[in-house]
Amino acid sequence: MSVSRRGFIKLLGAGTAAMGLSRLGIDLSPTQAYAAGLKIEGAKESISICPFCSCCCNVLVHAKDGKIINVEGDPDYPVSGGGLCAKGASLKSLHNSPERLTKPLYRAPGATKWVEKDWDWMMERIARRIKDQRDRDFMPKNAAGAVVNRLESVFHLGSSQVSNEEAAVLHQMIRAFGIVHFDHQARICHSPSVPALAECFGRGAMTNHYSDLANSDAVLIMGSNCAEHHPMTFRWINMAKEKGAVVVHVDPKFSRTSARSTYHVPIRSGTDIAMLGGMIKYILENKKYFEEFVVNYTNASFLVGEKYSFKDGMFAGFDAAKGKYDKAAWAFEKDAAGMVKRDKTLAHPRCVINVMRDHYSRYDLDTVSSVTGVSKADLLKVYEAYSATGKPDKAGSFVYALGWTQHSVGVQNIRMSGLIQQLLGNVGNAGGGIAALRGEPNVQGTTDHALLYGYLPGYHSTPTANYPTLGDYLKAYTPKSADPMSVNWWQNRPKYVVSLLKSWYGDNATKENDFGYSWVPKMDPGEDYSHLYIFDRMYKDKIKGGLCFGHNPCQSIPNSNKVRKAWDKLDWLVIGEVFHNETTDNWRRPGIDPKKVKTEVFLLPSAYRAEKAGTVSNSGRWQMWHYKCAEPLGKSRNMGEMFVEIMNRVRDLYNKEGGAFPEPITKADYPAKFDAEAVAMRVNGTFTRDTTIGGKLYKKGQLVPGFPNLQVDGSTSSMCWVYCGGYTEEAGNLAKRRDLTQTPMQAKIHLYPKFAWVWPMDRRILYNRASVDVNGKPYNPEKAVIAWENGKWVGDVPDGGQPPMAMKGGVYPFIMQTEGHAQLFGPGREDGPFPEHYEPAETPLKVNPFSSQMHNPVMKVIKSDMDQLAKNGDPRFPIVLTTYSLTEHWCSGSETRNGPALLEAEPQQYVEMSHELAKEKGVKNGEVVIVESLRGKTQAVAMVTVRVKPFTIMGKTVHLVGMPFCFGWTKPKCGDTTNRVTVSVGDPNTSIPEYKACLVNVYKATKVTEL
Ligand code: SF4
Repeated sequence: MSVSRRGFIKLLGAGTAAMGLSRLGIDLSPTQAYAAGLKIEGAKESISICPFCSCCCNVLVHAKDGKIINVEGDPDYPVSGGGLCAKGASLKSLHNSPERLTKPLYRAPGATKWVEKDWDWMMERIARRIKDQRDRDFMPKNAAGAVVNRLESVFHLGSSQVSNEEAAVLHQMIRAFGIVHFDHQARICHSPSVPALAECFGRGAMTNHYSDLANSDAVLIMGSNCAEHHPMTFRWINMAKEKGAVVVHVDPKFSRTSARSTYHVPIRSGTDIAMLGGMIKYILENKKYFEEFVVNYTNASFLVGEKYSFKDGMFAGFDAAKGKYDKAAWAFEKDAAGMVKRDKTLAHPRCVINVMRDHYSRYDLDTVSSVTGVSKADLLKVYEAYSATGKPDKAGSFVYALGWTQHSVGVQNIRMSGLIQQLLGNVGNAGGGIAALRGEPNVQGTTDHALLYGYLPGYHSTPTANYPTLGDYLKAYTPKSADPMSVNWWQNRPKYVVSLLKSWYGDNATKENDFGYSWVPKMDPGEDYSHLYIFDRMYKDKIKGGLCFGHNPCQSIPNSNKVRKAWDKLDWLVIGEVFHNETTDNWRRPGIDPKKVKTEVFLLPSAYRAEKAGTVSNSGRWQMWHYKCAEPLGKSRNMGEMFVEIMNRVRDLYNKEGGAFPEPITKADYPAKFDAEAVAMRVNGTFTRDTTIGGKLYKKGQLVPGFPNLQVDGSTSSMCWVYCGGYTEEAGNLAKRRDLTQTPMQAKIHLYPKFAWVWPMDRRILYNRASVDVNGKPYNPEKAVIAWENGKWVGDVPDGGQPPMAMKGGVYPFIMQTEGHAQLFGPGREDGPFPEHYEPAETPLKVNPFSSQMHNPVMKVIKSDMDQLAKNGDPRFPIVLTTYSLTEHWCSGSETRNGPALLEAEPQQYVEMSHELAKEKGVKNGEVVIVESLRGKTQAVAMVTVRVKPFTIMGKTVHLVGMPFCFGWTKPKCGDTTNRVTVSVGDPNTSIPEYKACLVNVYKATKVTEL
């Protein structure tokens, strides 16, 4: 009998259970057979993917008579091994929920109820609305007279929920319309990850992958409660712990992650840089760093230019009038040939490592302890445990999520882990790296496809008005290195940009017309078009209409009182959703007279994940195919179909009537119908004509085998170069691979190299050339990722196929960095080359003991009559508020609050507070309280707990409270969003809002619904 692995697991499971019971003399096999038959007999089984966290658990979906009757974890998915958390276990009830949107709904201006309409009526009117608005407001030039060809009065928000293929056609459509106010959930969850990780290593993604965490000797979890919010992560962390790894959880509150860790170390929210700055000082002073790695693979030996300085919290180059740094002041010193000067002895005082030592010399135990609230003993315990991984055969991993990103220093929080990992040599190796636990699925893939204003798909900056031609643009963004040992992979950017333009405009993109570059909208240089600014401009009547797919900003954006007022001001709104939520129904929120809300709303019912096919990418960059398991419920449709129909209807109108700058729309090479498989091929890319590369002929229409084959002359197209290689002529759609075979070397480190496909080029561990010495010998042969054997690399796909550094033709390991080295000193970020501790925008302190610069000097602060900030140490608001997710609800909760079991487990808004604070406020556990800030107030049930404790900060008691961010007014009918009190302040690099630290006060409610 031939048995598949899944079949084998099922038989084994049944056999094991039967064996156990048969020992008791009970034969249950007839009962088991009967029960199994009842459940899924006659059902069609397909594979889908959980639509919640970025663990992307694969699920087996059973459908019968068109209805989903069973969902269970897929045991073949290496990350989960068949496990599901509460959300995944609720997928059947969520898909079949009577609360689902199943018909297109229309709300006329001033109407008090929804009216059902058919798709045709809705689509026709939506296309008309978009075209009329575009024709009215299209801007051929900006105020300075530069050509911009953009539309500012319309926005697009969302959607991290769509597949990669839906994202690809959505991005193409948004650029064709000229929209620049274009943003999605990555902005508010992980936007800092890209600039932080890219500045350190070259790419903005999680370095390793979930199952690799089992290889760690130490795991430092900061800014994440992964046992509850990315539960499958903890499967691998537990495995590491069972093998002897130390697991440290640094977090303001005790959680299930803390309970399963070796230590929990409470920290005041917003002080992570201070704590880790102390660790850098400890590592450098106690020579805990991995010197060979540091000298050869990082920029520790580079000489920082003489213009650089750091004085009292400010880096050199600050322009007070502009409120920005001039980064030229942070440049490296170069020789006449353009090579960066280096001192590999590390003796020169301007070597990066010495400048770094000076910088963190102020982070002594006393100061760090007094600012963070962490005892000196705990600091030392963490520093010692983690820095023990700075040895060739040891590996440590950082794990973070929104607890790090959602700060006015979000990028520099993450950079801090990058600095420590470089010092300890924990990059590229098994069990090392930085686990950026992404939020929603598919936020990794949709970030790769750039549903954000600042990038084009594949991490190319969006063109700005100061680059009028493609040549100007490519010159500005194509780095050059004088060092022959640096691969400097971004020198290939022109090939990827031209291939992208070919994919958008097909035969209409020619060399003569700059491949259609003038049709891509241009932003104003330095302008910010992200969430905080979109809502501020909407509030100030500068935005008239928009599209919002799979996103709930009226619940999830800070200062929601202002956000909701801004939303009221729109003339028209198109929303694609699975359920009603605070955004779809904002016009009828409590306290509002719908008759006074002028917005015309088109609410389009969306298919849910198991009702459509396509790919999503987990945090570890695994691109995986999910199948259509059942027809969409009612009249719902997948979003890809909606985007394609909207674009084609608008195009029809332009073809018929003409209008403002029609070329980007009429000349687009856009599918007539949405077909995920066909778009997946477009994403990978094809040859646009017969082309010979390296003596091999590729015929027109053939799939490009990988991005090294993309061309600059227009002979190839690809909608996103990093995904090129995932769909080939030889192997087909590699995202569908389910092959679990591995070599013994690969199996030792849980590499699973043949399961699905991973960008880039199926490389499972990024920067893996740093896991070997300059001769290609693994630093840790027991957990080798790659090795140079007999003149070739074995193991994982090497990060650059050239020989090891010391050999002829050898290159540096960080191929995406211009100079080939990981960057301890990062001269490219807005707020400094080294992370520095600044207090959050609202702080209970009156002084910052590290400098007289209280806050990040270049943080983004939104100003309006609804955007007040409490002053430093404001006695009216003495309590620090932090926010978080729950296992049972995902993000804004707009889906999971429709799951009866999930809602039963976590039924209402609450605020966690210490016994000490509760006593001070006269509040008892379970009583209703008001949480208030300068922006507004919200109501919650008090959860008085030992999970949060008062901190002693600079000799004073500072209380911290925590609230989940998943509740809203639509359901359950008690309380509202935490974001009524949070601040509109953002990190200077990405404008991610500071959700994780603002000032509030708490008092007992005198009546329920006191809002
Ligand atoms: S929410 Fe995350 S951990 Fe839970 S089942 Fe879904 S993908 Fe898996």
